[in-house]
Amino acid sequence: MKSWPSRPVPELPGASSVPRVHDTSTGRPEAMAPLGDRAGLYVCGITPYDATHMGHAATYVAFDLLNRAWRDAGYPVDYVQNVTDVDDPLLERANATGVDWRELAESQTQLFRTDMEALNVLAPEHYVGATEAVEWIVPAVERLVERGLAYRVPAGTGQDGEPAPAGDVYFDVDAAGQLREDDPDAWVVGSTCRMDREQMMPLFADHGGDPDRTGKRDALDPLLWRVERPGEPSWDGGSLDRGRPGWHIECSVIALKYLPTPFTVQGGGSDLAFPHHDMGAGHAYALSSEPMAQHYVHTAMVGLDGEKMSKSKGNLVLVSTLRQQGVDPAAIRVAILSNHYRTDWFWTDELLEDSQRRLARWREAAAKPETAGAQALLEAVRAALAEDLNAPAALLAVDAWAARNLGGAAAHGSEASAEDAQLARNTLEALLGVVL
Ligand SMILES: [Zn+2]
Repeated sequence: MKSWPSRPVPELPGASSVPRVHDTSTGRPEAMAPLGDRAGLYVCGITPYDATHMGHAATYVAFDLLNRAWRDAGYPVDYVQNVTDVDDPLLERANATGVDWRELAESQTQLFRTDMEALNVLAPEHYVGATEAVEWIVPAVERLVERGLAYRVPAGTGQDGEPAPAGDVYFDVDAAGQLREDDPDAWVVGSTCRMDREQMMPLFADHGGDPDRTGKRDALDPLLWRVERPGEPSWDGGSLDRGRPGWHIECSVIALKYLPTPFTVQGGGSDLAFPHHDMGAGHAYALSSEPMAQHYVHTAMVGLDGEKMSKSKGNLVLVSTLRQQGVDPAAIRVAILSNHYRTDWFWTDELLEDSQRRLARWREAAAKPETAGAQALLEAVRAALAEDLNAPAALLAVDAWAARNLGGAAAHGSEASAEDAQLARNTLEALLGVVL
């Protein structure tokens, strides 16, 4: 499907070093150097039934920093993002509101694109809907069944005790975990998120898994293909019969279609580390005999005024609502960047007001006919982002540059120039995505 328009990234003098970023699969910061001359980035996209809330926005802005840091380090980036445009929560919302599921998905995806463009998030090269990928997913699942890495369950009961028809296909985590015993990079369940079974079991149930589905070989085996139920959309599944794909296989197949394995980073919110990313990595390993990604990166959660933000609490802060209220999207971006991507944080009115004031000061400084200190600013921002995408530290460097130039004396020194202000503007735009 179509992506959104992106502003061209200004060129900066010199280049930054390869960013070191915290890798969930090793539990420590790693230099995220691509294996080849291009970086590959897959960030899981939205399920389009409630448009961009602040948690989504913070995730895509965090990976936008990584995208920009790689480009600044001299690596072109192949960026792929999916849209889970058919899934249980989307269908439930469509049913509850009496809207056709396709219309709901399309309208919410469009709102998301508009939000991303407003937040100046660079668009993915490939933006792919699950419904577009079904034709690639079916043969992949068929191959897993043929190789004994997936199996069909008989009729029984589902997660909530409701009757479930025969034929749903599940991934055999045990069989897949024994594929390549001699390969240190081989996938076993939990390997990309460093979790044991005790940690994984509750997360599996919380994040769309169905441990209680009868007929499964292991409670953790995830769904690959759900055969048609009355009233649900379905596609031709070849030997699998009509149905629709599971969530993890959607991302694995889309990633394998567009990125060479292992690609550089698989990313998303921290709630995706297990089961989504780990199972996705298992599917990809089973299909390609290669690790899916070199690194796994996860972003923290965003709350509101000290509480967890959730649909059930009805306290989602939506980017589109703020935009409708006339809030400058650049100020929303500054508010996001003033928090480190790995620390849980809260959206508050004070945070937004501070960010608006901050942005206004930066713009005031950049509007001066001559400024000084932009080269030092560029180096400070590069250094901050190279160490685990430390945007809050980068923003302090911008504050210091603005304070120096609004202070008077320094701005009129011998080193002050009109080019300096341009370099400062380019630094903020190219590396932080903030347009002054
Ligand atoms: Zn995904």
